[in-house]
Formats: sequence, C-alpha cells, structure tokens
Amino acid sequence: MVHALLAIALLAGAPAATPPPPAPSSPARPATGPRRASPAPPKLRLPGTARPVRGAIDLTADPSGERYGGTVRYQVSLSAPSAVIWLHAEALTIGAASVGGKKAKLLTAPGGFLGLSLEAPAPAGQVEVVVEFSGAFDRALSRGLYAVAEGERWYAYTFFEPSDARRAFPCFDEPGAKIPWRLTLHVKAGDVALANGRIASETPEGALRRVDFEETRPLPAYLVAFVVGPFDLVDGGTGGAARVPIRFVVPKGRGPETRYAVEVTPRIIDALEAEIGRPYPYDKCDVAVVPRFWGTMEHPGLVALGQPLTLIPPGEETRERRERYANIAIHELAHHWYGDLVTHAWWDDIWLNESFGTWEDANVTERLEPAWRALVTSRWARRAGGLEADALPSAKRLRQPVTSRHDIEGSFDNGITYEKGASLLSMYEAYLGPARWRGVVQSHLDARAHGVATSEDFLVALSAAAGPQVAVSFRGFLEQPGVPLLKATISCGRGGSGVSFTQERFLATGPRDKATRWSVPVCVRAGAGERVETVCGLVGAPRGALTLPFCPDWLWPNAGGSGYYLSALSPAELPKVLPHLTLAEKLALTTDAELQARRGDLPLADALGLVAPLAGSPDRLLVSGSIDVAGLIEPGWLGDAELARWRAFVRRTWGERARALGWLPRLDDDDELRALRRQLLPLVAGDGEEAVLSGEAQALARRWLADRRQVPAEVAWPALTVAARRADRALFDRIVAEAGKTTDRTEKGRLLAALGQVEDPELARAALALVLAPGQDRRDTGPILDRMLAGRATRRLAWGFLVENWAALAPRLRADEATWLISRAASVACAPGKRAEVAGFLKPRAEPFDGAPRALASALEEADACAAARTRNQKAISRFLVSATTP
Ligand SMILES: [Zn+2]
Repeated sequence: MVHALLAIALLAGAPAATPPPPAPSSPARPATGPRRASPAPPKLRLPGTARPVRGAIDLTADPSGERYGGTVRYQVSLSAPSAVIWLHAEALTIGAASVGGKKAKLLTAPGGFLGLSLEAPAPAGQVEVVVEFSGAFDRALSRGLYAVAEGERWYAYTFFEPSDARRAFPCFDEPGAKIPWRLTLHVKAGDVALANGRIASETPEGALRRVDFEETRPLPAYLVAFVVGPFDLVDGGTGGAARVPIRFVVPKGRGPETRYAVEVTPRIIDALEAEIGRPYPYDKCDVAVVPRFWGTMEHPGLVALGQPLTLIPPGEETRERRERYANIAIHELAHHWYGDLVTHAWWDDIWLNESFGTWEDANVTERLEPAWRALVTSRWARRAGGLEADALPSAKRLRQPVTSRHDIEGSFDNGITYEKGASLLSMYEAYLGPARWRGVVQSHLDARAHGVATSEDFLVALSAAAGPQVAVSFRGFLEQPGVPLLKATISCGRGGSGVSFTQERFLATGPRDKATRWSVPVCVRAGAGERVETVCGLVGAPRGALTLPFCPDWLWPNAGGSGYYLSALSPAELPKVLPHLTLAEKLALTTDAELQARRGDLPLADALGLVAPLAGSPDRLLVSGSIDVAGLIEPGWLGDAELARWRAFVRRTWGERARALGWLPRLDDDDELRALRRQLLPLVAGDGEEAVLSGEAQALARRWLADRRQVPAEVAWPALTVAARRADRALFDRIVAEAGKTTDRTEKGRLLAALGQVEDPELARAALALVLAPGQDRRDTGPILDRMLAGRATRRLAWGFLVENWAALAPRLRADEATWLISRAASVACAPGKRAEVAGFLKPRAEPFDGAPRALASALEEADACAAARTRNQKAISRFLVSATTP
C-alpha cells in the first residue's frame, strides 16, 4: 500500500490525502454464552499449532443496509490435539461455530481474538472450522468492509492491511497464513460483485443474486478483497505477455474519467514484466476505483486505486495528474510480485514489500515515461527522506522487531520502510550493477513464489549471487538503525594513490556516535585533468580505503548520488568539486549540505551559498534543489523585519524567472517548463508576495471559481492556493460554497485543503470550525487542520484548536490518521517554550492509537533538532538575509 505520509508527499499541492479513521474498537462479541478465555489466550500472534490450509467466505452484503453477515469455513491443520482454536475477529457479532462438526463454545480475548473451545480436544490432523458471523458496514473510517455513498447509491469496498481483515470476517489474520480462498457473495440483483478471483458462476436467488468466484492463488487475509455496488465496468484492454484482461470498476457514470488510466495501465503491466523479467502472476487485473486516496492497495486481481488518482475529468489531464496515477498504479501493481507473489512471513519483514515496491516503481516509471526523469527525482527524494528519518537518535531499524500492535502499525514507517529501504536497494544496485542485482532479485522471487519469505531468505539469495561480504554489508544496514557519515581523505605518494575513510553515525541531535559501524558499498568519482574514473569497494570500519588509479585533483565520494551515506563536506572543497558533478550528484550534495548545515557541521553561509548557482540553472531539478537548500531558513523562525527580508530574498532569487514564465501556459510549453511554473509561481507569488503575480493569482482564482473552463486546471489549483492565503471573506465564502456544491470528491478535497492556507485570523478560525462542523466529513476537512499546523501564521491557532477539540476529533480518526496528525502537531514543539506543553498534551493522547507513541517520540526528536538548529543558525540566517537583500 501507499503509506499515508507518502501519499501526502506525492499529492503535494493536491488535497493532502488525509488518510481515513476507526470506530471505537471492541472485541468480537459472541451472540451466545461468552466467557473469558481460561487457557492462556494469544497476546499478539496466533499459536502455531493451528494453521489454515484453505478458506471459504460466504457473505450476503447490501451496501445500502447497515449490516452484512455470513459464514467462514477453514480447513485447518492441527499439529497437536487442540481444545481451543484461536483466530481473529474484531467488532463482529459471532453466531454458531463448530470444529470438526462439533459445536464450539466462544471465547474472546483483547486484541481481536476469538477462541473456539471444545468439550474434548480435536485430534492432530486436518479439521474443518466453521463460524457464522455478522458485522456492520463501516461508514466513518473506511476500514474493514466499508460503505460509501456516491449521490444516492451505496457501494461497499474492503481495506484490510495490516490488521483489519478481522473486522470484516473471522480469519487467521497474519501475513504468513497464506491460503487459497473461495468467495461466494449474495448481492442485490442490480449490484455488481467482484473479488480477487474470476467469477465462476452467477445464479439468481429471488431478489438477490449468488456470485461464486474461482479459488484464488494463496493469499494472506489482508490481501482478500471484494466490492459490491451498482458499479460501471470500463474495458481497459489487456496487459502483459498473457494478455491479462484489465477493467476499471467505477461508481455509476464515472467511466469517461478513466481515459488516461485505460490508456496507460496495459503499458504499465508490460513495463513491469519487462523490468522484473517475470510474468504478471495473476489471471486478471480489475481496478477498483475506491472513493478516497486512502484504501489504495495491491490486492491481486482487484487492485484498489483511489478516485483522486484514477478519475481525471477531461479538462484536468495535466502531467501532474498523469504522473501521480502512473506512479501509484505502478507501485501497487509492483506489489503483485513484491508482497503478493512473495509475502513477508511477519510484519518485521514488511520492508520486503514496501522497500522493493518503492524501489521498483521508480524503475518502471522511468521505463514508461523517460521524460519524467523518475529515477533521478525519486532517488533524490527518497534518499533525502530516508536520511532525515534515519538521522534521529530513535530511528528504527529497517528490519525492526514487531512485538505489539503498535509495532505492526509502526512498521509502515515512511522514512525508513519506504524511503531508506528503496535507497538501500538503489545503492546495492549501483554497486553490483543493474544486471547482477536484477539476478539477485529474480532468484529471491523464484525461490519463494506464491509462498512467504523472510529477510534471511533474501540475504541467502544475495550471498549466493554477490558473495557473503556483500550480504554482511547489507545486513549491517538492515539490522542497525542510522546512517553513516563518511569523511574521505585523499593520499598520493610513492606507494600509489588512494582515498581513506573514517565513519561515524550521523545524528541530527545529541552526542556523536562513533561506535556504530557499517561495511559501506562506496563508489567514488575522481578526476585529474581530462581523466575521470569511478572506483567502488566495500569500505569497512572504523577505517577503510580504496585504491585510485591516479592522484586526483578532485573527488566526490558518492558517485551517481545513490550511496545511502552522507559525505562530510568541506567548505574549501565545495567550489572545486561542484562543477564536475552530474545532475544526480549535485542533488545528493544539496541533501548532504542541508543536513550538515542544520547540525552545524557545515557553516550555514556555505550551504546557502549553493542557492544562487542552483537557482540559475537551466535544469528544473537543480532549481528544486535550490528551493530545498533555501529551506534552511524556516520562515517560522523569523521576526517581522527578517520575514520581509526573506520575502525579498525569494523575489530576488526566483522572481525574474517566475515573471518570465507567467501564470498562463503557452501552447509550445513542454512538460518540464510547466512543472517549473507549478513550482516557482506559488513560491514567488505566495512566499515572495510578488505584487503582480500575487494579484494575478487572485484574479485567476476568482475567474476559475466563476467558470471552470476559463482557467486551465494546471494553473487554477496553484493560483487558488496562493489566493487563499490572502483571502477576504467573499473569496473564503465562495470556496466554501463551491466545496459544498461539487459532486466530485477530489475537487471538494482540494477546495477544502485550499482553506487551510488562509492567514487572516478570523477566517482561519472559520476554516478550522469546518473541520468538525455538522454535515462535513472529517475525511474531507482534515487537510484544513494539517495545513494550518504547518503554516507560520496559523500554527498557534491550529494548535489551540487541536487542544480544545481533541475529545471530539479522536473518535473520528483511524490509527494512521491520528499518528499523522499527532506527528504534525508535535512540530509546534520547535517554537521556544512550547516543548513541555506539546509533549505533555500529546503523549497520553497518542497512547490509544496503534503506532502513534513511537511516531510522536520521533516527531519530538525532530522538533528538538529543529529547536537546536534554530538556536545555532539564527544569527547566521540574519546575516545571510541582510547580505542577500542588500543591493
Ligand atoms: Zn506499498
């Protein structure tokens, strides 16, 4: 799946995809004779004595009703005589249950466990377990089996990862319990029913219809999926060597908005097969277009992709929207190999899904649309995201033990599981070479196809193909948290030339750590005159060295920029090295400079000295790099006079270019130019408050609100975001009215998110009041609060709102949403004097949400690093702003 935080990053500028929320959880409620478990019930994992072999679900579901119900039937293998069989069920009502034909008594245990207790133990061997149950469609939080209305019609969807299958039906809800499933759904005659497997037969049953599906390949419960409702089906052609049929499953009438998805999805499957070198592992590819971004998920045979990605109205098919659909569709479809075909045995190995899915989505996006330069941009972004998370003292390991429900939720850590993991894979790919690396990945997939795998299995494949030393090196990054900082020293003499390295763990805050060690696959690029060479090797600890074929004039310790380590930068060397670097290397350098300047290793002025040369570069990505480095100046730290200088600095640095581009695209503008416009215009018109461009944004936004056809979509949204900052009451009311009017959930989300930019205190209060207003869905209004917590002018107001309204807010948040909101709110602790108050308020409130306490601890560490950087760099920032704005 796509983690919520990742989703937000990817949707930057769009509705900050607030992930959706949980009803108050309750354990399974037996209908008859409940009693507490006496034989020690499981706490987290099911006992290994009862393992499912195959499963069948028979369910009657009408999404317009309140409840659904049915029967599950499992063939279970018992390794020992068993008096109690434990499985998972949460917030379900359980009816009769039997084991081997004998009636079972029901036990419950906290954490979503259901025990089936027998008078006499069932003997070892195979036994059939049957459980009748019913449940309520979730209508508030979009988890488990949930129902959503589109206009007057109701549709039901499933979303289970990691642990919500147990909310839909009783099951062995662990990733390692991978079994074939047979589904039968009884639905209204007018409803469409689809699931992972193909439809085997359909039979009328009075007012209902019985739909039987073919048995699936082995799947864990979290990958089981089905949808029910009056959907339209759109033919998407076929993909892959086996010409697998593709269809889009959309709410009634929305078919025409799948034009781009229909065009590109077959090519995506072709590109995945070409890249991975293995065929698409399943026999169909239905795409369930689920209501929100949340729920986007890799179920084989019925992949779920959110409406904000997939449904693009004809006038809005911008590069941004196309890229977003393609990238996420590729990620979810890549999981058909990484996660579906080969599944992690337990959640501590989720990196085998998410790191690989993330690494592969960039490769395949590059193959699909080279002009998007996905490899360079995503490697840069992911390395930066990984390094930032990994620089915190409490950073978790990539393979982190999972011993609680908190840990399960926390294992989907954006910075580590997705970004660090993908960056490591890129580093070893670069080190071994793409062909050799691909061989490692293929042999891992082949060895475990349709089964489960652990980190050890992968390391075995790596060791076999690349040698034990490489596997040892990889294990060091897998099992140790943190990131190495390498300091390179060149030596040239009679004995030859070489470069030696010292290493330490780079920590954003706190004392230095010289104890943690890695064996790092390093590639350096060195040059002397015309001669340039790349030399690679494993650099050990505490010192390591590489031999160079000549004595270099310059050396960059991270060739290609794909090394997952920081290079210690020396102000004297920077100007010497910079001109020799490739695009990817320059981008990596900006990240290294930022992190080191924040920690005080590199003088702030030297890091900020990179801004001007990069901002003037013809390459858009280097302009992005300049904006990132300038982020060392956090506007929230500045007083009024300094803020005015900072705005002037923004205008002076990027203004001329923004003015030359103008808001409105020209016919012959290519995609890169359009992307540059989307970046620079909001920066200069918004943060820089450039009078002309900002006035134009106001006019464009108002014109677009009056008539959508008058302004191209690619301009309308950034202009609206800028205009909303300085909105007056009339514009504010107009945006609220349009959000109320639109029937397109994506547009509604974006309009509401724009209100999160409003800076006028009275209007900001009015915007915040919408978050919990009657008649508003918090899943749509959540971004208002998210954005205000991030805004310099609105942060304190938003914090006050959060404190005052937490009791009303909390029941409407799923664990992942609460985690996100709490982490965002914790950033307020960077402000002087706020740390104790913020931590004191959030700590007890994080506790009830799986994964939130650890995320809060990280967010507070980040705030501490922010506060330290603020103290350390404040004076240097003032000096820089004076010198940068003095004519
Ligand atoms: Zn994923």
